[in-house]
Amino acid sequence: MSFSLAIVGRPNVGKSTLFNRLVGKRLALVDDQPGVTRDLREGAARLADLRFTVIDTAGLEDVTDDSLQGRMRRLTERAVDMADVCLFMIDARTGLTPTDLVFADILRKRSANVILAANKAEGSAADAGVIEAYNLGLGEPIRLSAEHGEGLNDLYTQLMPLA
Ligand code: GDP
Ligand code: MG
Repeated sequence: MSFSLAIVGRPNVGKSTLFNRLVGKRLALVDDQPGVTRDLREGAARLADLRFTVIDTAGLEDVTDDSLQGRMRRLTERAVDMADVCLFMIDARTGLTPTDLVFADILRKRSANVILAANKAEGSAADAGVIEAYNLGLGEPIRLSAEHGEGLNDLYTQLMPLA
């Protein structure tokens, strides 16, 4: 049996970069439906011998700060409810922001099955951000570099039991 993974987190942390890396060109066709559905991208992911569905929460990039919270919350809750497990991504270079804490709160309230990933973790500039991520109380963060393809072995280790 296969599983589904939703990538959630605030804009610009690298969600789509990871989505694209996992999916390559195997992008599923998603109906252009009204509401939040069009802001969830679904693809057939491959990571070593694992095959699963991955969901990218897109569509948050173009909203203003004022409308971000409500839209973000709805979209994230929807992704959490759709997926077997969530990959909650933070940017280890910038460190935690108040918006990250809002996401952490959503995931805790939904009792989501969470994999925590500190992205942009290539190089030592990310060390402080990775340590900060521990303080979210969502488990040990994976050190990930979606852009450079680093840390995917640790992601594999966490996903393997779900396959
Ligand atoms: P999203 O808004 O969360 O989907 O983020 P994107 O995937 O669009 O990435 C936002 C920016 O972060 C882009 O400029 C990416 O090239 C960059 N980025 C993504 N992953 C990494 C990474 O592992 N390291 C670094 N340094 N930059 C990254
Ligand atoms: Mg994106």
